Amino acid sequence: MNKIAWPVTKGVMLEEPTNKEKRVKIIVLNESKTPDPLNKVEKRCAVTPSSAQRLVKKGLSITLEAGAGLLSGYSDKEYEGVGVSVISDVNESISSADMLVAVNKPSESQLALMKKGAIVVGHLDPFFQQPLIESIAQKQLTAISVEMIPRSSRAQKMDALSSQASLAGYVMVMQAASLLPSILPMMMTPSGTIKPAKVFIIGAGVAGLQAIATAKRLGANVLAYDTREVVAEQVESLGGKFLKIDIGETGQTKDGYAKELTEEQKAKQQEAQRDAIADSDIVITTAQLFGRKPPVLISKDTLALMKPGSVVVDMAATSGGNVEGSEPGKTTLVNGVNVIGDGYWSQFVARAATDMYANNIYNLVDEFFDTETNTFNLNLEDDILAGCVITHQGSVTNDMLLTTYKGA
Ligand code: NAD
Repeated sequence: MNKIAWPVTKGVMLEEPTNKEKRVKIIVLNESKTPDPLNKVEKRCAVTPSSAQRLVKKGLSITLEAGAGLLSGYSDKEYEGVGVSVISDVNESISSADMLVAVNKPSESQLALMKKGAIVVGHLDPFFQQPLIESIAQKQLTAISVEMIPRSSRAQKMDALSSQASLAGYVMVMQAASLLPSILPMMMTPSGTIKPAKVFIIGAGVAGLQAIATAKRLGANVLAYDTREVVAEQVESLGGKFLKIDIGETGQTKDGYAKELTEEQKAKQQEAQRDAIADSDIVITTAQLFGRKPPVLISKDTLALMKPGSVVVDMAATSGGNVEGSEPGKTTLVNGVNVIGDGYWSQFVARAATDMYANNIYNLVDEFFDTETNTFNLNLEDDILAGCVITHQGSVTNDMLLTTYKGA
């Protein structure tokens, strides 16, 4: 038998950093030790051996809390092999770190250990975490919230919202497919013909478009709706059909986010999509409003119109819910329909999620790291940093957040 020759990834020789004592020190937490907001284990990590290797090569020093990559498939040994120092008691090292990179929010006690002027990076959920963000500012830390990275072409490589939402789109279809008591593709056999499943996707942003593509690849008939009509063409280019609903002027913000509908428009939308929902085997809702609670799109009464055993996935279950009766972190039976509300969707494919997130973080550091001076250049005139740096030198610096906090 011929031996399969898998391509070999060669290790890169690490150059000795020229100026060891001036190296920017990044600390990476093992977030599986602190359960996520639904008390589940966080499986993702903010660096991979590959991204760490590139950061070390640039002259940064990386300290990683032992076991941080294990649940996404990376052993401590792999990190050590590329020059990362792996330690078991991270608290001792936090105070000397220049930058703490995380997937989620570090705990108050970890933040309290950080030195004045240090940078903390992660999904800080700033619109809904006012006390935490204000306390980060008071501690004189600079906070970079990955949710606030502008959705521009230049920032695409750092866009963690998009990387995790794409995976979420895929995961939601896979979860729905595994619960549905049928199959997604058409199957013609001597024992009969099974018709393709009907999948309705509400919200065709990053996650919705990926869900459409995934359901199409699995052979389903796909229908989609979004209040931003500009996405109709994208839906159709993926092989989906766009449901046209006339609810009057909708539009989008200058950043491409959906505008909130009036009460009358909401009622019209729910009415117009009722038949499509009743006729679907799977409905996936991905509608979000940036910085605000997501809209409720499906009532319990509408769920009752679906065939028993149908599946609805509520992407927004953890942030308020698109579907009445969905429960964060759980799959519930509502009027005979399985409603999946897991949340933190990209964790279900933790290795892919970690690979993408670690690349986002690497690209962010790389973009602003000055190799001559060995410093992270916090240039707040730059449009990317102007967007995602939300606390600096003792204050909350983002206007959108300040307005939200004042209104709270
Ligand atoms: P999002 O997560 O904020 O919302 C998801 C989708 O839900 C959106 O398409 C939104 O229009 C839709 N929605 C809101 N209310 C709805 C309702 N009542 N019914 C149906 N749908 C509803 O969006 P996102 O995926 O983060 O994308 C936001 C914007 O950013 C989009 O314009 C997207 O194209 C853009 N984007 C740009 C880049 C880039 O240029 N680098 C990268 C990613 C996203």
